[in-house]
Amino acid sequence: MSVVCDLKDLWKQFLDLVQNKCSSTEFDNWFSPIKILTQKDDILVLQVPNIFVREYILDNYREDLLALFSDGLQNNLPIEFKITTQTTIKKVAISPPPIKPLKLHSHNLNKNYTFENFIEGPSNQFVKSAAIGIAAHPGKSYNPFIIHGGVGLGKSHLLHSIGHAIQRNSKNIRILCITTEEFINDLVHNLKNKSMDQMKRFYRNLDVLLIDDIQFLQNRLNFEDELCNTFEALINQHKQIVITSDKPPSCLQLSERLVARMEWGLVANVCVPDLETRVAIIQHKAEQKNLLIPNEVAFYIAEHIYINVRQIEGAINRLCAFCRLMNFSLTLEVVEKILAEILHKNPQKKVTVEHILKAVSNVFEIRIHDIKGDSRLKKIALARQIAMFLAKEYLEDSLQKIATSFGGKTHSTVLHAWKKITTQISCNEVLKKQVQIIKKALTG
Ligand code: ADP
Ligand code: MG
Repeated sequence: MSVVCDLKDLWKQFLDLVQNKCSSTEFDNWFSPIKILTQKDDILVLQVPNIFVREYILDNYREDLLALFSDGLQNNLPIEFKITTQTTIKKVAISPPPIKPLKLHSHNLNKNYTFENFIEGPSNQFVKSAAIGIAAHPGKSYNPFIIHGGVGLGKSHLLHSIGHAIQRNSKNIRILCITTEEFINDLVHNLKNKSMDQMKRFYRNLDVLLIDDIQFLQNRLNFEDELCNTFEALINQHKQIVITSDKPPSCLQLSERLVARMEWGLVANVCVPDLETRVAIIQHKAEQKNLLIPNEVAFYIAEHIYINVRQIEGAINRLCAFCRLMNFSLTLEVVEKILAEILHKNPQKKVTVEHILKAVSNVFEIRIHDIKGDSRLKKIALARQIAMFLAKEYLEDSLQKIATSFGGKTHSTVLHAWKKITTQISCNEVLKKQVQIIKKALTG
């Protein structure tokens, strides 16, 4: 067998290995665009769309590549990455009219929302490293970059971190970080004042646009076109756009044009952090407030509040206030007392797959055995999909593990169920109520 064939085969083996190791979104985003170009002097030449992909692969998979491609004695990879050359835009000879210095609304960047303060764990590793990469090469890699996930899981934190990192690298760059609500207000104001030209000029001359909570556009569809036009104008100029959303783009009730535009870039998900990450977040937040928090207390909080990091922060603020005012030192008994009210108002018992199956079984009056089975009867299939949706929302387990607890389904079945129920909840009031009832039974 020739060397060419060997290296190509090895690359294919590597892709198989990676595909089993990472999520399908990660694979589609980072590995699918890579093409085998050729083999040159015993080197495999791969074409990557940008430098960011190369860095990502080498940062995260160097060990795996070395294990496959080198003889174990040397550290050199017989792989060369060729970056697709971008078509250069011809400069127009006539210079555009000078733009007035922009008064950016002081960027609106929260000074605490930096990458350094964002604690990493398996639930957010991919999205954080993508965010860091995008901040290092704004407009040069994935555009737009979409961060989606549940409430209080760090979407805005990452959005602002990207802003800070870009600003640190280049002081003169024009960054605007704005919520969708603020964008709409700006639009209404400019429509009223007949100053749309000015607004368009302002937005289209930004270098980086960071938009928070795009889901709020769902009820304000009149404004969708202007935002979409702004996105297109910026993307065409290779200006970076980052958007956060509480759902994946395909589950948002927005126009096909806007959804397609969003899906064109990189879509990444922040999930509920696991216990160890929550403990690390608690310790980090306490340290920032000069609060000494014993390990057992950190674990206690992490075990009792686990769906929303913002609530964890609320608990720490409360502890901090009590310690300062009452001069307490934090023992487990004291903490239990202080947090009793939060935990009582917002009881968060640990949910298991058995609890979910039982609750769904009660509400739908379907046997657990059937929910876990293969019946395609409409009522049973719906109950199963709701149970899978809740399992993905509440459990820290991998999709694969959840799939196994449902009588050996595949992880893509769980993902499909989650997407379907997420979309349907937003337009089907009955389903929304049913899910609320089950959620109440689970956490109440
Ligand atoms: P979202 O926008 O997803 O609703 P935020 O970004 O506002 O959530 O995060 C809520 C709070 O939780 C913020 O104060 C943020 O700093 C904190 N937070 C969330 N995830 C992390 C993390 N991984 N590390 C540190 N702080 C976090
Ligand atoms: Mg937010």
